Amino acid sequence: EMADGRKTAYVKVIFLGDQSVGKTSLLNQFIQKRFQKKYKATLGSDFFVKEVRVGETTVVMQIWDTAGQERFRSLGSSYFRGADLCCLVYDVTVGKSFDDLDNWKEEFLLQAMPPDPERFPFFVIANKVDLPDDQRMVTSSRATEWIRRRPNFHHVEASAKSGDGVDQAFLQMATVALERN
Ligand code: GDP
Ligand code: MG
Repeated sequence: EMADGRKTAYVKVIFLGDQSVGKTSLLNQFIQKRFQKKYKATLGSDFFVKEVRVGETTVVMQIWDTAGQERFRSLGSSYFRGADLCCLVYDVTVGKSFDDLDNWKEEFLLQAMPPDPERFPFFVIANKVDLPDDQRMVTSSRATEWIRRRPNFHHVEASAKSGDGVDQAFLQMATVALERN
């Protein structure tokens, strides 16, 4: 802690969810402020780093994204180790991606083995809300009801394409992750 009260905290955030829900696009929108229509799942590194201010604290977010391995559920244990928060993403136009959230949660808890699984924070992003309503398969009310039964879960709607809700989602994630730090 510095003399003026400012602090720096380091948090590790894990991104999980079905292939194509928009995990990488959300990260691109947050970090580079842009959306690429055809995103290649090839990343130079295993994680992105971005600083966010939460009050007096600079939160250095280390955010882990997959390079397509989620298709085969072949994420190594280093992917999960030391996580402060897990972000689960689904695509509001694909019902299965919402149904799979519980499996991803279980996979996370199995691999990360946090000391307090009942209280470990999960952050759920409903992505692609820019798409027309008639394509939407998971309604807000269904998601809200699902979240209500899981006290350690947070839920936000976002669009990696338009950018709506993206900065707010990451700021909230930093805030929640910081509470565990
Ligand atoms: P990932 O496999 O979860 O990393 O998903 P990607 O980020 O690679 O995105 C998969 C596809 O969905 C790509 O074609 C993206 O352009 C598209 N996509 C991602 N986010 C959005 C969004 O918010 N809205 C729309 N309309 N398309 C999106
Ligand atoms: Mg990806």
